Amino acid sequence: MANTSSERRSPSSTSACVVCGSTDARVLSSTRLQAGERVTVCGSHKTAHQRSEKIAVTIEELKTLTADRRAS
Ligand SMILES: [Zn+2]
Repeated sequence: MANTSSERRSPSSTSACVVCGSTDARVLSSTRLQAGERVTVCGSHKTAHQRSEKIAVTIEELKTLTADRRAS
């Protein structure tokens, strides 16, 4: 098998809110998807997820659940 010489991962994917992309370490936290997978989110999106009626199954669903719903 190939050598795992490129074990380093892009740092941009490790500590940023998966919803808004915030990299401010002071507000970063994490939430869990339905399968128990931990994903990084900022504080406000963590709260938004907790307030939503359901637990997201995927990151895409998490984005949808926590998106601003502005009734116009
Ligand atoms: Zn966020």
